[in-house]
Amino acid sequence: MKKMIFSLFILSILLMMSSCSAAPSYDIVTTMYPQYDFAKQIVGDKMTIHQIIPPGAEVHEYEATSQDMVTIKEAKLFIYTSTSIDTWIKDPSTIGGTNTIVMNLSKHYTPVDYPYAMNLSADEIAANAIHFWTDPANAVQLIQAIVEQIVLIDPANELYYRQNALDYINQINALSQEMMDYFTSPTYLGSTIYFAGHNALGSLASRYGLFIVPLFEEFKPDADLTSSELITFTNEVKDAGTHYLFIEDLALPKAANTIKDQLALDGYNLTLLKLYAFENVSTTDFEGHVTYLELLQRDFDQLKLALATT
Ligand SMILES: [Zn+2]
Repeated sequence: MKKMIFSLFILSILLMMSSCSAAPSYDIVTTMYPQYDFAKQIVGDKMTIHQIIPPGAEVHEYEATSQDMVTIKEAKLFIYTSTSIDTWIKDPSTIGGTNTIVMNLSKHYTPVDYPYAMNLSADEIAANAIHFWTDPANAVQLIQAIVEQIVLIDPANELYYRQNALDYINQINALSQEMMDYFTSPTYLGSTIYFAGHNALGSLASRYGLFIVPLFEEFKPDADLTSSELITFTNEVKDAGTHYLFIEDLALPKAANTIKDQLALDGYNLTLLKLYAFENVSTTDFEGHVTYLELLQRDFDQLKLALATT
């Protein structure tokens, strides 16, 4: 009998250890950073949130792990971006557990007309739709949609969540209005900037009547770039007379450095500035709890710097 009690004791210790070593579960799980930040601003400390794509990682090439699938199953709310970006989601109906609300973020906004009408090509419109969260007018709708799902999970704190969502929306709208006033002033309306990355910020640019010339339309590693593409782009930058070239936050600026070095040979100086597409954030920014709002402010500051001195 004593032996049996002892074995039961060992068994219960082992069970406790195994439950401790299992991955923690979270109330809300997201693929990418924008929805991670939106949900976090709404719930504060009242719920736990986890972003499965690690900070600093490239979102377009991410493949979920089997551990990610378990984490999603245990969540109350799972928010992915779209099947165009989260390409590992082949069949959304198979994702999550029986109690998981699965939210496809791309289905929760209606494009708002751009006040400064511009002729966008079909390619540009398609790229804008893929990176829909970069337009603050869409971000506001996404926050409104996310708070509705959060209220379903935890109705007891409804007022708190709605107030947080409203406060965040008001801050984003205020900054967005400031950007609108600046970029659509007679001095800057229709300005063009050059971006040595993929066409991730088209919808942000379109909102404020700006033009962004990207190095390539769709995401692809620098290695796939042809030298003629690079030469054409370098000449465009020089012909435009700008001394600022924007680069992505997380990709190594190999192409941008090549362009910079090439132009330096002609005595033409180029300064590289980051433009945030909010797809993901660096480990440092993630640990510093950077917000979508703060990154939008950084974009505004960098764009102002480039335009004011062009
Ligand atoms: Zn992208």
